[in-house]
Amino acid sequence: MDATRFSGKALATRIYHDLSAGVAELRQIGIKPELAIVQVGNDEAAALYGEVKRKKAEKVGMSTKYIQRPENISPAEFGEQIAFLNASPAVTAIIIEAPLPARLKSSWQIAGEKDVDGASGRALFNPCTAMAAMAAIRESRTRIDGANAVVIGRSAVVGKPLAHLLLSANATVTVCHSHTRDLSFYTRTADILVAAAGKPNLISPEMVKEGVVLIDVGTNQTADGLCGDIQPKAYEKAAFYTPVPGGVGPVTTAILLANVVKAAKLQAGLIKEDAL
Ligand code: NAP
Repeated sequence: MDATRFSGKALATRIYHDLSAGVAELRQIGIKPELAIVQVGNDEAAALYGEVKRKKAEKVGMSTKYIQRPENISPAEFGEQIAFLNASPAVTAIIIEAPLPARLKSSWQIAGEKDVDGASGRALFNPCTAMAAMAAIRESRTRIDGANAVVIGRSAVVGKPLAHLLLSANATVTVCHSHTRDLSFYTRTADILVAAAGKPNLISPEMVKEGVVLIDVGTNQTADGLCGDIQPKAYEKAAFYTPVPGGVGPVTTAILLANVVKAAKLQAGLIKEDAL
């Protein structure tokens, strides 16, 4: 089967183009979207991802604030830092770069209208990776209504919110995880298969049916470089697939910044919550 290869870069470029225009319009009426990026410790990957977001945000015309706190920050101090950003009128949106030390996991709460990555669990926004996976599914032009969608992974940031988004679009959703018996029994039923397990090569060609839409959220560093959860050989059976790298990943940051613009509009009373 001639599969369509999704280009995350092409979709992200379209989103950034629209965002530049959107930010310029907001600035004309005196609204200046500002993204605060918070990093704890000196993790190199976190610094790299944070820097990419900062540069992209500035490229579309947003202001940014990069806040780096020491690895040994206390839960109370970290909570105060987030509370300070919540209360700062100039700050539109707040994101916290992973990894966050385990002892800080519950000492903070980003205000719902500023939580553009859905990090606090009660946010108005869905987590960006789940939204990016959904955007890729929509690009496939497959009919989601009534489709069998199988999501592998049940984390709070990817699997669960994506299962909800697919359910809201009227798919029949199955969520698999590390306790699922006979994973391939479920994957073979999928019209839309999303792999978000973080396990290189988990999905082989025998585990998917002809014509499937394959969405690979997995981002795995291996000795051979970056790879997803789906074996590239499986693409040959697909109608549409997202490669790794170059698939869902680039769309995630673009959607995060799109959420910052929506947050700015929401806070200014230009849109309502149901437009998020
Ligand atoms: P996570 O918190 O480690 O969750 C992984 C999920 O996969 C868990 O629910 C786990 O089941 C399940 N799982 C693990 N091994 C499995 C197996 N052999 N069979 C079936 N299910 C299995 O990871 P995450 O944060 O959701 O991230 C998932 C992947 O997406 C990672 O590779 C991560 O790097 C990537 N990611 C990509 C982006 C992006 O922008 N592209 C953003 C975020 C994350 P249990 O619940 O039973 O443990």
